[in-house]
Amino acid sequence: MSSASTRKKVVIITGAGRGIGAAAAMLAGARGYAVCVNYLSNHDAAQHVVAAIRNNGGEAIAVQADVSQEEGVQALFATVDRELGKVTALVNNVGVLERQMRLDQMDAERLTRIFRNNVVSYFLCSREAVKRMSTIYGGCGGVIVNVSSTAAKLGSPGEYIDYAASKGAIDSMTVGLAKELAQEGVRVNGVRPGSVYTEIHASGGEPGRVDRVKANIPMRRGGQPEELANAILWLLSEEASYVTGAILDVSGGL
Ligand code: NAP
Repeated sequence: MSSASTRKKVVIITGAGRGIGAAAAMLAGARGYAVCVNYLSNHDAAQHVVAAIRNNGGEAIAVQADVSQEEGVQALFATVDRELGKVTALVNNVGVLERQMRLDQMDAERLTRIFRNNVVSYFLCSREAVKRMSTIYGGCGGVIVNVSSTAAKLGSPGEYIDYAASKGAIDSMTVGLAKELAQEGVRVNGVRPGSVYTEIHASGGEPGRVDRVKANIPMRRGGQPEELANAILWLLSEEASYVTGAILDVSGGL
Protein backbone atom coordinates (compact mmCIF):
# COMPACT_ATOMS: atom_id res chain seq x y z
CA MET A 1 0.00 0.00 0.00
CA SER A 2 1.36 3.42 -0.86
CA SER A 3 0.77 6.53 1.23
CA ALA A 4 1.87 10.10 0.64
CA SER A 5 4.90 9.53 2.85
CA THR A 6 6.10 6.24 1.32
CA ARG A 7 5.21 6.85 -2.32
CA LYS A 8 8.11 7.52 -4.67
CA LYS A 9 8.31 11.26 -5.33
CA VAL A 10 8.77 11.98 -9.04
CA VAL A 11 9.03 15.56 -10.28
CA ILE A 12 9.08 16.94 -13.80
CA ILE A 13 10.64 20.41 -14.04
CA THR A 14 10.27 22.04 -17.44
CA GLY A 15 13.19 24.16 -18.62
CA ALA A 16 15.50 22.81 -15.94
CA GLY A 17 18.82 22.85 -17.77
CA ARG A 18 19.63 26.36 -16.63
CA GLY A 19 18.57 29.13 -14.26
CA ILE A 20 15.71 28.76 -11.78
CA GLY A 21 14.67 25.35 -13.13
CA ALA A 22 18.19 23.97 -12.68
CA ALA A 23 18.36 25.24 -9.09
CA ALA A 24 14.94 23.69 -8.34
CA ALA A 25 16.04 20.39 -9.91
CA MET A 26 19.15 20.21 -7.77
CA LEU A 27 17.24 20.98 -4.58
CA ALA A 28 14.53 18.47 -5.51
CA GLY A 29 17.22 15.82 -6.06
CA ALA A 30 18.68 16.57 -2.64
CA ARG A 31 15.20 16.31 -1.07
CA GLY A 32 14.65 12.78 -2.40
CA TYR A 33 12.70 13.38 -5.61
CA ALA A 34 13.49 11.42 -8.74
CA VAL A 35 13.93 14.38 -11.09
CA CYS A 36 13.16 14.81 -14.77
CA VAL A 37 15.30 17.66 -16.07
CA ASN A 38 13.50 18.87 -19.20
CA TYR A 39 15.33 21.12 -21.67
CA LEU A 40 15.02 22.38 -25.23
CA SER A 41 18.46 22.41 -26.89
CA ASN A 42 21.31 22.83 -24.40
CA HIS A 43 22.10 19.16 -23.82
CA ASP A 44 25.35 19.84 -21.93
CA ALA A 45 23.68 22.15 -19.41
CA ALA A 46 20.94 19.58 -18.67
CA GLN A 47 23.50 16.76 -18.36
CA HIS A 48 25.46 18.90 -15.91
CA VAL A 49 22.37 19.23 -13.69
CA VAL A 50 21.71 15.48 -13.88
CA ALA A 51 25.34 14.70 -13.01
CA ALA A 52 25.23 17.07 -10.02
CA ILE A 53 22.07 15.34 -8.70
CA ARG A 54 23.53 11.86 -9.20
CA ASN A 55 26.87 12.81 -7.61
CA ASN A 56 24.85 13.90 -4.60
CA GLY A 57 23.26 10.43 -4.39
CA GLY A 58 20.01 11.37 -6.16
CA GLU A 59 18.11 10.02 -9.16
CA ALA A 60 17.67 12.15 -12.31
CA ILE A 61 17.24 11.96 -16.06
CA ALA A 62 17.51 14.65 -18.73
CA VAL A 63 14.71 14.69 -21.31
CA GLN A 64 14.84 16.86 -24.41
CA ALA A 65 11.34 17.99 -25.35
CA ASP A 66 9.82 21.18 -26.73
CA VAL A 67 6.94 21.70 -24.28
CA SER A 68 5.41 24.42 -26.45
CA GLN A 69 4.33 21.58 -28.76
CA GLU A 70 1.73 18.95 -27.89
CA GLU A 71 3.85 16.06 -29.25
CA GLY A 72 6.78 17.24 -27.12
CA VAL A 73 4.67 17.27 -23.97
CA GLN A 74 3.25 13.80 -24.65
CA ALA A 75 6.72 12.39 -25.34
CA LEU A 76 8.08 14.00 -22.14
CA PHE A 77 5.42 12.45 -19.90
CA ALA A 78 5.64 9.07 -21.64
CA THR A 79 9.40 9.00 -21.05
CA VAL A 80 8.93 9.81 -17.37
CA ASP A 81 6.20 7.13 -17.01
CA ARG A 82 8.65 4.60 -18.44
CA GLU A 83 11.90 5.68 -16.79
CA LEU A 84 10.97 7.20 -13.40
CA GLY A 85 7.38 6.11 -12.70
CA LYS A 86 4.17 8.04 -12.17
CA VAL A 87 4.74 11.77 -11.79
CA THR A 88 3.74 13.20 -8.38
CA ALA A 89 4.91 16.79 -8.88
CA LEU A 90 5.15 19.18 -11.82
CA VAL A 91 7.01 22.48 -11.93
CA ASN A 92 5.93 24.49 -14.97
CA ASN A 93 9.02 26.66 -15.26
CA VAL A 94 9.69 27.21 -18.97
CA GLY A 95 9.59 30.87 -19.84
CA VAL A 96 10.91 32.90 -22.75
CA LEU A 97 11.05 36.57 -23.54
CA GLU A 98 12.14 38.40 -26.68
CA ARG A 99 13.88 41.67 -27.54
CA GLN A 100 12.64 44.64 -25.56
CA MET A 101 10.18 46.71 -27.60
CA ARG A 102 6.85 48.47 -27.45
CA LEU A 103 3.57 46.84 -28.47
CA ASP A 104 3.42 48.89 -31.68
CA GLN A 105 6.55 47.04 -32.91
CA MET A 106 5.39 43.48 -32.11
CA ASP A 107 4.29 41.08 -34.84
CA ALA A 108 1.94 38.11 -34.66
CA GLU A 109 4.75 35.54 -34.93
CA ARG A 110 6.40 36.91 -31.81
CA LEU A 111 3.12 36.96 -29.88
CA THR A 112 2.39 33.38 -30.91
CA ARG A 113 5.86 32.23 -29.78
CA ILE A 114 5.51 33.96 -26.41
CA PHE A 115 2.05 32.55 -25.70
CA ARG A 116 2.90 29.04 -26.96
CA ASN A 117 6.00 28.81 -24.78
CA ASN A 118 4.75 30.61 -21.69
CA VAL A 119 1.06 29.69 -21.59
CA VAL A 120 0.15 26.76 -23.87
CA SER A 121 3.06 24.71 -22.46
CA TYR A 122 1.78 25.17 -18.88
CA PHE A 123 -1.73 24.10 -19.89
CA LEU A 124 -0.54 21.03 -21.81
CA CYS A 125 1.91 19.88 -19.12
CA SER A 126 -0.72 20.40 -16.43
CA ARG A 127 -3.24 18.39 -18.45
CA GLU A 128 -0.86 15.43 -18.64
CA ALA A 129 -0.05 15.75 -14.94
CA VAL A 130 -3.75 15.87 -13.98
CA LYS A 131 -4.39 12.64 -15.88
CA ARG A 132 -1.75 10.94 -13.75
CA MET A 133 -2.36 12.66 -10.38
CA SER A 134 -6.09 13.32 -9.99
CA THR A 135 -8.08 10.82 -7.94
CA ILE A 136 -10.73 11.03 -10.69
CA TYR A 137 -8.25 9.24 -12.94
CA GLY A 138 -7.26 6.74 -10.23
CA GLY A 139 -4.20 8.76 -9.21
CA CYS A 140 -2.92 9.33 -5.68
CA GLY A 141 -2.81 13.14 -5.87
CA GLY A 142 0.07 15.48 -6.51
CA VAL A 143 1.28 19.05 -6.70
CA ILE A 144 1.78 21.59 -9.47
CA VAL A 145 3.84 24.78 -9.14
CA ASN A 146 3.63 27.40 -11.87
CA VAL A 147 6.53 29.82 -12.25
CA SER A 148 5.03 33.20 -13.10
CA SER A 149 6.69 36.63 -12.78
CA THR A 150 6.18 39.96 -11.02
CA ALA A 151 5.85 41.22 -14.61
CA ALA A 152 2.23 39.97 -14.32
CA LYS A 153 1.64 42.75 -11.77
CA LEU A 154 3.95 45.41 -13.22
CA GLY A 155 3.14 45.03 -16.94
CA SER A 156 6.71 45.54 -18.29
CA PRO A 157 5.92 48.68 -20.33
CA GLY A 158 8.38 49.44 -23.13
CA GLU A 159 10.09 46.08 -22.64
CA TYR A 160 7.76 43.14 -23.14
CA ILE A 161 4.11 43.52 -22.24
CA ASP A 162 3.50 40.30 -24.19
CA TYR A 163 5.65 38.40 -21.69
CA ALA A 164 3.95 40.18 -18.77
CA ALA A 165 0.51 39.30 -20.13
CA SER A 166 1.52 35.66 -20.60
CA LYS A 167 2.43 35.55 -16.90
CA GLY A 168 -0.89 37.19 -16.01
CA ALA A 169 -2.58 34.33 -17.83
CA ILE A 170 -0.59 31.86 -15.75
CA ASP A 171 -1.73 33.50 -12.50
CA SER A 172 -5.38 33.16 -13.59
CA MET A 173 -4.76 29.55 -14.59
CA THR A 174 -3.18 28.82 -11.18
CA VAL A 175 -6.26 30.11 -9.35
CA GLY A 176 -8.74 28.31 -11.61
CA LEU A 177 -6.94 24.99 -11.80
CA ALA A 178 -6.40 24.97 -8.03
CA LYS A 179 -10.18 25.23 -7.53
CA GLU A 180 -10.87 22.66 -10.25
CA LEU A 181 -8.61 20.09 -8.55
CA ALA A 182 -9.09 20.96 -4.88
CA GLN A 183 -11.19 17.85 -4.20
CA GLU A 184 -9.04 15.55 -6.33
CA GLY A 185 -5.87 15.50 -4.23
CA VAL A 186 -3.96 17.96 -6.39
CA ARG A 187 -2.68 21.33 -5.12
CA VAL A 188 -1.76 24.08 -7.60
CA ASN A 189 0.27 27.13 -6.63
CA GLY A 190 2.48 29.75 -8.22
CA VAL A 191 5.65 31.67 -7.51
CA ARG A 192 6.30 35.12 -8.92
CA PRO A 193 10.05 35.78 -9.20
CA GLY A 194 11.25 39.36 -9.38
CA SER A 195 14.60 40.00 -11.10
CA VAL A 196 16.82 36.94 -10.84
CA TYR A 197 20.38 36.40 -12.06
CA THR A 198 19.89 34.00 -15.00
CA GLU A 199 20.55 34.01 -18.75
CA ILE A 200 16.92 34.89 -19.64
CA HIS A 201 17.73 38.62 -19.70
CA ALA A 202 20.16 38.14 -22.60
CA SER A 203 17.16 37.06 -24.74
CA GLY A 204 15.64 40.48 -24.10
CA GLY A 205 18.87 42.07 -25.37
CA GLU A 206 20.06 43.18 -21.93
CA PRO A 207 22.16 40.57 -20.10
CA GLY A 208 22.87 43.01 -17.26
CA ARG A 209 19.22 43.98 -16.68
CA VAL A 210 19.09 42.80 -13.05
CA ASP A 211 21.88 45.17 -12.04
CA ARG A 212 20.22 48.06 -13.89
CA VAL A 213 16.86 47.62 -12.14
CA LYS A 214 18.01 46.62 -8.67
CA ALA A 215 17.86 50.20 -7.35
CA ASN A 216 14.06 49.93 -7.77
CA ILE A 217 13.80 46.68 -5.80
CA PRO A 218 12.93 47.36 -2.13
CA MET A 219 15.73 45.01 -0.97
CA ARG A 220 18.10 46.73 -3.46
CA ARG A 221 19.39 43.47 -4.95
CA GLY A 222 18.52 40.84 -7.53
CA GLY A 223 17.53 37.32 -6.53
CA GLN A 224 19.50 34.11 -6.88
CA PRO A 225 17.96 31.03 -8.55
CA GLU A 226 18.41 29.09 -5.29
CA GLU A 227 16.11 31.56 -3.49
CA LEU A 228 13.37 30.67 -5.97
CA ALA A 229 14.14 26.98 -5.64
CA ASN A 230 13.54 27.17 -1.88
CA ALA A 231 10.06 28.63 -2.42
CA ILE A 232 9.19 26.10 -5.14
CA LEU A 233 10.29 23.14 -3.02
CA TRP A 234 8.30 24.43 -0.04
CA LEU A 235 5.14 24.65 -2.15
CA LEU A 236 5.79 21.10 -3.40
CA SER A 237 6.25 19.79 0.13
CA GLU A 238 3.81 18.47 2.72
CA GLU A 239 4.59 21.59 4.78
CA ALA A 240 2.33 23.39 2.31
CA SER A 241 -0.43 20.77 2.58
CA TYR A 242 -3.21 23.39 3.10
CA VAL A 243 -1.90 25.79 0.45
CA THR A 244 -3.59 25.81 -2.95
CA GLY A 245 -4.39 28.61 -5.39
CA ALA A 246 -1.71 30.77 -3.75
CA ILE A 247 0.82 32.85 -5.65
CA LEU A 248 3.95 33.65 -3.69
CA ASP A 249 6.03 36.72 -4.60
CA VAL A 250 9.74 35.93 -4.31
CA SER A 251 10.96 39.30 -5.40
CA GLY A 252 12.77 41.25 -2.71
CA GLY A 253 9.63 43.25 -2.03
CA LEU A 254 8.63 44.21 -5.60
P1 NAP B 1 16.53 30.64 -18.41
O1 NAP B 1 17.75 30.79 -17.56
O2 NAP B 1 16.45 31.41 -19.70
O3 NAP B 1 16.32 29.08 -18.71
C1 NAP B 1 15.29 28.69 -19.53
C2 NAP B 1 15.19 27.18 -19.58
O4 NAP B 1 14.01 26.84 -20.31
C3 NAP B 1 16.34 26.51 -20.30
O5 NAP B 1 16.64 25.29 -19.64
C4 NAP B 1 15.76 26.23 -21.69
O6 NAP B 1 16.34 25.09 -22.33
C5 NAP B 1 14.33 25.92 -21.35
N1 NAP B 1 13.36 26.08 -22.43
C6 NAP B 1 13.05 27.22 -23.13
N2 NAP B 1 12.06 26.98 -24.00
C7 NAP B 1 11.73 25.66 -23.86
C8 NAP B 1 10.78 24.81 -24.48
N3 NAP B 1 9.94 25.25 -25.43
N4 NAP B 1 10.72 23.50 -24.09
C9 NAP B 1 11.56 23.04 -23.12
N5 NAP B 1 12.47 23.81 -22.49
C10 NAP B 1 12.55 25.09 -22.87
O7 NAP B 1 15.21 31.02 -17.59
P2 NAP B 1 15.01 31.49 -16.06
O8 NAP B 1 15.40 32.90 -15.94
O9 NAP B 1 15.57 30.47 -15.13
O10 NAP B 1 13.41 31.48 -15.97
C11 NAP B 1 12.67 30.40 -15.41
C12 NAP B 1 11.24 30.87 -15.20
O11 NAP B 1 11.25 31.98 -14.30
C13 NAP B 1 10.56 31.38 -16.48
O12 NAP B 1 9.21 31.01 -16.47
C14 NAP B 1 10.69 32.89 -16.36
O13 NAP B 1 9.68 33.56 -17.09
C15 NAP B 1 10.53 33.06 -14.87
N6 NAP B 1 11.07 34.32 -14.37
C16 NAP B 1 12.40 34.58 -14.43
C17 NAP B 1 12.86 35.80 -13.94
C18 NAP B 1 14.32 36.17 -13.97
O14 NAP B 1 14.63 37.33 -13.62
N7 NAP B 1 15.21 35.26 -14.35
C19 NAP B 1 11.96 36.73 -13.41
C20 NAP B 1 10.61 36.42 -13.38
C21 NAP B 1 10.18 35.20 -13.85
P3 NAP B 1 17.80 25.16 -23.06
O15 NAP B 1 18.80 25.30 -21.93
O16 NAP B 1 17.89 23.85 -23.76
O17 NAP B 1 17.76 26.35 -23.96
